[in-house]
Amino acid sequence: MKKQSTNIEVKKNNRNYIFRYICRHGIVSNPDISYAVKMSLPTVTQNTKELIERGLVKETGELESTGGRRAKALSVAANAKLAVGLDITKNHVGLMLTNLTGEILKYDRIHLPFQQQDGYYQMVSERLECFLEEASADREKLLGIGISFPGIVDLDNEVIVHSHVLGVESVSFTSVSRFFMYPCYFLNDANAGAYAEGIRSESLERFFYLSLSNSVGGAIFSNNELIQGKGFRCGEVGHMTIIPDGETCYCGKSGCLDAYCSATRLSDVTDGKLEQFFIRLRQGEKEIREIWDRYTEFLSIALNNIHMILDCDIVLGGYVGRYADEYIQEIWEKVSRRNIFEEGSSFVKSCNYRTGAAALGAALRVVELFIEQI
Ligand SMILES: [Zn+2]
Repeated sequence: MKKQSTNIEVKKNNRNYIFRYICRHGIVSNPDISYAVKMSLPTVTQNTKELIERGLVKETGELESTGGRRAKALSVAANAKLAVGLDITKNHVGLMLTNLTGEILKYDRIHLPFQQQDGYYQMVSERLECFLEEASADREKLLGIGISFPGIVDLDNEVIVHSHVLGVESVSFTSVSRFFMYPCYFLNDANAGAYAEGIRSESLERFFYLSLSNSVGGAIFSNNELIQGKGFRCGEVGHMTIIPDGETCYCGKSGCLDAYCSATRLSDVTDGKLEQFFIRLRQGEKEIREIWDRYTEFLSIALNNIHMILDCDIVLGGYVGRYADEYIQEIWEKVSRRNIFEEGSSFVKSCNYRTGAAALGAALRVVELFIEQI
């Protein structure tokens, strides 16, 4: 019995590995795969045949011959399966449609203030159906929806333990999923953002994702996994004390990073419009520049502290992360002043996904769960 299950597992792992290889490389041939993944050509051919039969891989003509017979070109049937990501925030819902290769097929962000009421979820569900309609998405192909929540998401007990931003406690997954016609998967917003950055990345294997939105959060991504922590609070750096007895945080304590580095610290001076803050910063307004300098000073403390503990790349995400690229040099300089181990601070990186990262990450989680069992 044990031997049998092991054989099945090996077969499944091989198929999975081959599928991921095709996913990553676009158009390939059986001999290419065999060489790259170090499996015999008959094993690879058998696996790709099965994947073709299941409609997950397709033949796309022949590759250029390098002598001998031309090899069949294979690629992933990208739209064979679809997934949706929903990003629930205080005033908006982000909707993302993706496919097996993680392509962004459609993204929308609608204004819909959160309410922990049936009517709210019914509305989200209706808007989702409109969104799928507009994208001409085949519902049969939809694997499910990933839902990103700004709060502590307990995957063991299937409950959103707490969300200060949304003002809710103990929301069971089922009390949300019952409004949708598809399987639902839940994750925390910073985790979702990190997942979008990491899961298909060739260069980022281990990193910390610092989410600088209207609250500050974080996530640790390592070897294609999110590190959750004992109470599913891993990476909640928003409440690290950076200034003893400092400014009051929304959590009730003093001196938390959130009180200094949330996006609202910047947008509060431009009527809640963060974009406006960065426009005025670019124009060189003195007052705005001072606020930004103060912001990055505190940010550099957090970045150095996180780096001292984890010794890995740090990706700046969230609302502020969107603008980080332009100011990365000055952020590096400030972090370098605190860093005793390295000259530069190029471990701090701006995010790749500037809009819809959490929605995309939530959708990609659904895709990955499918791929894992191929
Ligand atoms: Zn706090």
